[in-house]
Amino acid sequence: MEPIKDHLSRPLRDIRISVTDQCNFRCSYCMPAEIFGPDFAFLPKEEYLTFDEIYELVLAMGDLGVEKVRLTGGEPLLRKNLHELIAKLNKIESIKDIALTTNAMLLPKYAMKLKEAGLKRVNVSMDAIEEEVFKKMNGRSVSTKPVLKGIAAAREAGLEVKINMVVQKGVNDDQIVPMASYFKDKGITLRFIEFMDVGSTNGWKLSSVVTKKEIVDILDKHFPVEPLNEAYFGEVASRYRYAGTNIEVGVISSVSDSFCSSCTRARISADGKLYTCLFATEGYDLKPLMRNALSMDEVSNAISALWNKRRDRYSDERTEETAKNRPKIEMSYIGG
Ligand code: SAM
Ligand code: SF4
Ligand code: SF4
Repeated sequence: MEPIKDHLSRPLRDIRISVTDQCNFRCSYCMPAEIFGPDFAFLPKEEYLTFDEIYELVLAMGDLGVEKVRLTGGEPLLRKNLHELIAKLNKIESIKDIALTTNAMLLPKYAMKLKEAGLKRVNVSMDAIEEEVFKKMNGRSVSTKPVLKGIAAAREAGLEVKINMVVQKGVNDDQIVPMASYFKDKGITLRFIEFMDVGSTNGWKLSSVVTKKEIVDILDKHFPVEPLNEAYFGEVASRYRYAGTNIEVGVISSVSDSFCSSCTRARISADGKLYTCLFATEGYDLKPLMRNALSMDEVSNAISALWNKRRDRYSDERTEETAKNRPKIEMSYIGG
């Protein structure tokens, strides 16, 4: 494992690319329905990077050492013909891993096409297994049924599936054990995510975070868990396995036990802005680089110069005050 001495020497290894800022859900912690209503100004579609532009950016970033790409949003499966982008990215030799984060609603329609295009795995966001809690959290009263159908479709297509659950105190912390029980029985990895203060619309408070320690204690009482070693440098989930099984469960502790010193990730919004941190206030517009016929080397050099200036470590420095007072970009725009 590569040792990292300080916050300044982190290599750029993975990118998250948002392919749309729109979504068919309105999760309370991400796109509260009262803010993201019918009059909300989403990006005009002509502002989106084209698949060719995304391909060229990933190619240029591959030259800088990027090996992992995650497609996200908003809801990435709302972007028409997403499988065509995956097929293109799959041809880039330096990219070892392509993943997709989705709410699973459109997986019954697209899972097979995604698999045929070369996708190997999906992360499905699901915050409760109990019908009423799930309906309330997704903001659109959608039942768990289509999501479970989406998960089944992904598995039938041969995609590896992991589930992400954002835990909010008093909202869905009573779902920790039922979710663990349900997905343990199915042999599917579940990852709990601490509720984060991304953006400025989700009413985040430190007191609504259920910490990694609390989650592991709750789990351990019902299903004893054993910690596993970090699989690679910069892995964000603390991994465990249910004792006596090979079934994994994880926690992403972005608030209570932050991991900025090993963060090797950049994000690109659907309209082509590069953000060196999830909590950045400003992005760097890559579109002019892509549309002014610069050479691949010039694009790589520009991104490399930006990355080398990076000093981000928001989660290490977070307090209730920074969360309230710093302007932040919304998760659905920057790409979660
Ligand atoms: N729509 C897709 C989905 O939900 O999987 C992809 C985009 S969503 C923004 C990506 C991930 O961000 C999801 O796993 C979601 O649960 C997570 N997320 C959104 N808001 C969050 C918050 N405030 N704290 C922690 N995770 C959050
Ligand atoms: Fe949509 Fe995903 Fe945000 Fe939920 S978490 S509102 S599904 S983008
Ligand atoms: Fe990386 Fe920024 Fe998150 Fe820290 S706060 S882990 S630097 S994205």
